[in-house]
Amino acid sequence: MPSGVSSAFRARQKPVPLFIDRGSGARLYDVDGNEYIDYALGHGPLILGHCHPAIVHAVQKQLARGSTFGCQHELEAQVGEKMLTALPWAQRVLFSNTGSEAVQIALRLARAATGRRLVVKFEGDYHGWMDSILVGYRHKNPVHQACHGDDMLATMGQPSSVLQDIRVLPWNDAEALQRCFQEIGGEIAAAICEPMQCNVASTLPVPGFLQTLRAATREHGALLIFDEVITGFRLAAGGGSQYFGVAPDLAVFGKALAGGYPLSAVAGKAALLEPVETGQVIHAGTFNGNPIAMAAAAATLDILLDPGGDAYLRLHRLGERLWSGLQRLGDTGTPVMVQGVPTCFHILFQEEPIRNYRDFVAYDMRRNDRWVEAALREGIFQMADGRWYVSLAHSDEAIAQTLERAKRAFDSFCRGGEA
Ligand code: PMP
Repeated sequence: MPSGVSSAFRARQKPVPLFIDRGSGARLYDVDGNEYIDYALGHGPLILGHCHPAIVHAVQKQLARGSTFGCQHELEAQVGEKMLTALPWAQRVLFSNTGSEAVQIALRLARAATGRRLVVKFEGDYHGWMDSILVGYRHKNPVHQACHGDDMLATMGQPSSVLQDIRVLPWNDAEALQRCFQEIGGEIAAAICEPMQCNVASTLPVPGFLQTLRAATREHGALLIFDEVITGFRLAAGGGSQYFGVAPDLAVFGKALAGGYPLSAVAGKAALLEPVETGQVIHAGTFNGNPIAMAAAAATLDILLDPGGDAYLRLHRLGERLWSGLQRLGDTGTPVMVQGVPTCFHILFQEEPIRNYRDFVAYDMRRNDRWVEAALREGIFQMADGRWYVSLAHSDEAIAQTLERAKRAFDSFCRGGEA
């Protein structure tokens, strides 16, 4: 296994990629017996924490009845129906296993519906590792600085021909967006974005930006695809679309949807998914809709979408407590900035927010790395890029304990001085 990891991002963990023994609730335990309060949550999915009893029970029950059928079963319909109650703008769903795959079918559907080739994406956004869309991601120079052509490729082995089908725009720049649509709007099949840039320091859309994007796509007959792999069922029952009040034509879900099991989905307007029904668009996959992931998703959504429950209120309240406590670390003088939303945010060590990829590239990541390591040594596990996800397993006590640990970690981070 290259670097001993199964996904390249895991190799970035400081000081070393952790080797885990088990997880329980909001806690992770490594093979050396160290305990961590977990805010990486399996890179986002564990919205109910590790081993939530309802999910464990649902999966165990299904395990005894079969793990994959290659046929239809009741749980698929149940999960589809539950999803659609939360997504009033959509009428159809289709299932796959990972976010990367679901993005591919969303792009294919958009190109099929419009008969156009070009896809607009925003720099820094990650939409999975496939050649077709891993463009304008972690590139050296922001597009403002006239970064062109092969600079936009992300990895060796990626054919440069993919660049012909993609335009990369700066995020939060309504003028650049409108210029692009005025020039080539008639060639654009779709614009794809995360409703907030969770993978670029949790950068929120500036007020009006998503609305401008919605209006421009509509005006030019292009589709709007929200990549809700992170934001879906995390920001609100209706994901980023509900949170920011903008409805897309297609949206991609993953991560929190099945509370820690591999499942992804595309939701959309009936007419856009119809070509799958007629066979004009191919969508396939051996494990698509498998009953194990579906059992986990049904159990997760039952809790998140319980009409009598207050899952999202609780998540936001916990996240706010955590966020404001972390922000207060900066009261001692060393700047601390927390940005994003309470259920998904980044901690930054500077006074200015990050508003786009240009700011992101300018940010001193070495400071982040020192902080992530200092926090890990005190028993806080966050994403390697300083991102925090909150789950319903994070009790008030866990948050209070986290803030005590964070204070010690921050003191050691400050003592360490500039990297
Ligand atoms: N879209 C976004 C916004 C993501 O963050 C990710 C994964 N982090 C993906 C797509 C790809 O999902 P997966 O890793 O399940 O393929």
